[in-house]
Amino acid sequence: MTYISLQSPDQGNFNYDIHIAHLYGNLLNTYGDNGNVLMLKYVAEKLGAHVTVDIVSVGDDFNENKYDIIFFGGGQDYEQTIVAKDLPAKKEAIANFINQDKVILAICGGFQLLGQYYIQANGLKIDGIGVMGHYTLNQNNNRFIGDIKIYNKEFKETYYGFENHQGRTFLSPDEKPLGDIVYGHGNNNEDQTEGVHYKNVFGSYFHGPILSRNVNLAYRLVATALKNKYGQGITLTDYQDILAKEIAEEYTDVKSKAKFKD
Ligand code: GLN
Repeated sequence: MTYISLQSPDQGNFNYDIHIAHLYGNLLNTYGDNGNVLMLKYVAEKLGAHVTVDIVSVGDDFNENKYDIIFFGGGQDYEQTIVAKDLPAKKEAIANFINQDKVILAICGGFQLLGQYYIQANGLKIDGIGVMGHYTLNQNNNRFIGDIKIYNKEFKETYYGFENHQGRTFLSPDEKPLGDIVYGHGNNNEDQTEGVHYKNVFGSYFHGPILSRNVNLAYRLVATALKNKYGQGITLTDYQDILAKEIAEEYTDVKSKAKFKD
């Protein structure tokens, strides 16, 4: 099957090259999750990287050596069932990718399927790929929907999002959460955790998409991928000097336009 690849323009001042695999991008892509891919591309280009994105889906070969970042989005139970059948063929390559400390961002359905198993809303259990320890239970005729805010103690960063899931995920002892809940439901509405951080795998229930609302996280993912590939010693423009400044300018601009309307 052929899918359209997304690529940076050929002309440009690029020092690096980043290759992103959008896993099952034609099936798992709810609530604008593919905005995360656009954000990864935007931030990577700001940091001087030429970007190519391929959708790697059912029946496609996943070559872990070709890619620097995986994005794995969310979806309905129906699409997750289709994906779950194809995943075992990619299990070894994805496990190698994780063990090489490469970067994965997995949202909702994708996050669930990296784990041991997922129990759907109708009670049917589907196997995850089992490359991570978490597992996901269902709940009785209910979904966790709404705004959510979390804090990551290790990075000292706050992340904002919107969650919409029925699954209740429980982390394994070797997994850290992406953050502790400030408000919202998070992984399971019990243990105050949201998402996962394991090696360089970042999982979350945040739609919205997470990276356009949390540019600090987008920077972290791209910078990690670039350092993995080109060495920890490379000098990258600081987050504060590019993206934080842009956000501040945008905010001032929006505020001044709002004043003009008054
Ligand atoms: N189908 C899964 C659930 O309801 C994942 C949902 C999603 O990706 N938004 O929990």
